[in-house]
Amino acid sequence: MSATALDAETILARCERLYGDTTLGEVRAWKKAHPGRPAIGHLPVYVPREVLHAAGALPVGLAGGGDQVDIVKGDACFQSYICHIPRSTVELGLQGDLDCLEGFVFPSTCDVIRNLSGIWQIQFPGKYVRFLDLPQTFDVETAGKFYQHDLEELVHDIAKLGGREPSSAEAAESLRLYSANRRALRALYDLRAEAPWLCSSDEAFLVTRAGFVLDVVEHTQLVEQFILAAKRRNKRKEDRIRVMLIGAFCEQPPLGLLRTLERSGSYVIDDDLNLGMRWIQGEVDPGSSPFQAIAHAYLKQSVWASTRYEDQQRRGEQLVKRAKEIRADGVVFGAASFCDPALLDQPPLQKALTTANIPFISFKYAENTGQFQGILEQAGTFSDSIKLWGGA
Ligand code: SF4
Repeated sequence: MSATALDAETILARCERLYGDTTLGEVRAWKKAHPGRPAIGHLPVYVPREVLHAAGALPVGLAGGGDQVDIVKGDACFQSYICHIPRSTVELGLQGDLDCLEGFVFPSTCDVIRNLSGIWQIQFPGKYVRFLDLPQTFDVETAGKFYQHDLEELVHDIAKLGGREPSSAEAAESLRLYSANRRALRALYDLRAEAPWLCSSDEAFLVTRAGFVLDVVEHTQLVEQFILAAKRRNKRKEDRIRVMLIGAFCEQPPLGLLRTLERSGSYVIDDDLNLGMRWIQGEVDPGSSPFQAIAHAYLKQSVWASTRYEDQQRRGEQLVKRAKEIRADGVVFGAASFCDPALLDQPPLQKALTTANIPFISFKYAENTGQFQGILEQAGTFSDSIKLWGGA
């Protein structure tokens, strides 16, 4: 069977196996095939994975244990009133599931991930830990230089772990591979916005999420194959409203919750799930200094996000613009419980939607939420009210 002839269900079954394997079997297989090379885990939301790749490592996305891990020891490291993802990540580490990773990068997403980097150093003293302080200003002369220097230091560290000091051509090639990956993911999201009956949000989630553990070239091929396969599906458009899911950019909702939303009378045509995989918008020219290009892309081509400093373009305006572009009937705010960046952003985002006359609802979840009936009823009522009266 040729690669392009794979059907969507076969591809999805593989993605779901990868998603369900908290022991990182795929990463272990990569390491066996690439003896001596390091695998580097990173927390959400955004880490420039091409930098890890250029340094000879396999970048591995970590997003907690979902609803598959029982927390036994992880709770002891954290107070009760923060989100769930740090507990399950520590639990995975303590039970040995992350042993195949030589190092961990903790981006400056929020206080919780900042603190987790410290806890990691205490709990796993033999592992490389790096806190990646992403710029909070957008001036290329200051923030650009600072961030580029940080990235170059990261590369030196990974080289010492068994990676390499890449040439400019090697770094440029990594950037190109990741640009191609983002292009494929954009095409996946375009397909959802245009024909959501061919690709549901849980499917896009699984296909994107496979990139957390696969080599970038293989993942790009997988995304492209899935798009082709989804377009061949014989599925009919249903009478559903079109909604965006916003606020789920870090701790991810359980798969069952995404499937529940799709069953509630809505097509989820856009979301910020696994947002770091699609963080840089548009093309990035490596030029003569690929690391400078990556640093400048963060400053100038990042998506709007609640974890990123807000410059001239207000997040509410960005949300309204996107909702109009993709003809969304409404917005569903789904945030992890105690997620400060998502929950603090909701009032201004909701104000912008109200001004633009775009209806919304909101709920909270944890990665291990097991009961979806309440969310099904809430989302179903939202859908019905928009169908009947055009508003919630
Ligand atoms: S879910 Fe929110 S609060 Fe928790 S680590 Fe992620 S961004 Fe931070």
